Amino acid sequence: MKRVLAPTLAIAALVSLNAQSPGERAVDWNRLRPEILERYRDLVKIDTTAGRETLAVDYLKKVLESEGIPTSTFALDPKRANLVARLKGNGSKRPLLILAHTDVVGVQREKWPVDPFGAVMKDGFIWGRGSKDDKPVLAANLITMLMLKRLNVPLDRDVIFLAESAEEADTTGVGINFMVREHFPEIDAEFAMTEGGGATIEGGSVTRVNVGTAEKLPARVRLVATGTAGHGSAPRLDNALIHLAAAVEKVGRWETPMRLTETTRAYFEKLAAAGSPEQAARYKALLNPATAAGAQQYLRQHSPGEYSMLRTSVVPTMLKAGVGPNVIPSEAEATIDVRALPDEDIDRFFAEMTKMIADPAVKVVPVPRIRPPSPASRIDTEMYRAMEQAARSVYPRAMVLPSMSTGASDQAQLRAKGIQSYGIGPASTESDATDYPAHGDVERLAESSLYPFVQYVWNVVTAVAARK
Ligand SMILES: [Zn+2]
Repeated sequence: MKRVLAPTLAIAALVSLNAQSPGERAVDWNRLRPEILERYRDLVKIDTTAGRETLAVDYLKKVLESEGIPTSTFALDPKRANLVARLKGNGSKRPLLILAHTDVVGVQREKWPVDPFGAVMKDGFIWGRGSKDDKPVLAANLITMLMLKRLNVPLDRDVIFLAESAEEADTTGVGINFMVREHFPEIDAEFAMTEGGGATIEGGSVTRVNVGTAEKLPARVRLVATGTAGHGSAPRLDNALIHLAAAVEKVGRWETPMRLTETTRAYFEKLAAAGSPEQAARYKALLNPATAAGAQQYLRQHSPGEYSMLRTSVVPTMLKAGVGPNVIPSEAEATIDVRALPDEDIDRFFAEMTKMIADPAVKVVPVPRIRPPSPASRIDTEMYRAMEQAARSVYPRAMVLPSMSTGASDQAQLRAKGIQSYGIGPASTESDATDYPAHGDVERLAESSLYPFVQYVWNVVTAVAARK
């Protein structure tokens, strides 16, 4: 078997169309573009809102098997199947898992200027639900599998492809929870790569690539206040509403302690070193204990996401109380959305919250968690280095940062099982990410972001899995 391309050769193929030389074959990216676009659009055109994921599985199965890649499907709910395909390596290293979810969030058709499942091409964008979340990753993973097979790339490790259902709302446990619980050997790997990172375009080029290495843990609580029920005409000191309101104000204004993790320290240090002068000053101030408080206040006002990266955050989101305007209720409750740092001691944190509320009439009741606590993935691994290298090749002007998502994803289940898992995503401008976001009223991806993203995925996979 011929030895196949080093990742840098894949890049070389961009400029030199016939980069093939005896013993080495590279991907001809220009020739591959129409196929990348077609497969990506095919996937966007399949309406895979919750309960329809098997439609995507049927498509993927046909494409993969027609090229000689066997697949297996695993379905707790036949309409919400998961698909696994594996290209075998020589076993000298443990597998690499590339995964993407097939499901998309729902649409309100009247908000769309085009058919949300038409994959319409307009103004340089491909429009459609799932065009950002998560069909680019799904398409890039699919193309990578097809090219590994077509080029017969010898592998040091198995490359496992997983298309999973129900990432957006796995209330019945049919997606990643089912795969991890019932079929873990099918997807067990040293490394995984999936949504959860991204890249930013400024002034026409990609200036920043975020590699997702960690995420916060949703650890919600209910505050339940109890008192004596009574007539609204007779004030009571133990009115549950009054006690609840005071508690909600305390937790809502609580400045939980700032704590940097390996990921967030590296993230802010890089910004302090390489950001614009104004950014650099701000992040340097944040990293200096003497000036951190002021810098945090700035982020609290202007960058809530980064403020949240610094701490376990506490956000009141729901209130429930009262049965009538003239009735003092015996119970009132609030839901508090707590997002814990990956290394937080949750029980201790809740105990502190109880102490801070300091009111025996108000109980802190943890809500059962859907996702497990997940340790951050390391940044000293072969995989992380390969991702940095691939980012530098595909996006030469970009700074590469490890990042912690303040949201939650299916990487939690993988990290909890010991897999080092990393997040990726195609590039967008800040304004496109704001105006046409994942889960937004209208979603779209720049066509020009699609091709480099596929190359990025290919470069990482070949760097980590192809025989050295
Ligand atoms: Zn997603």
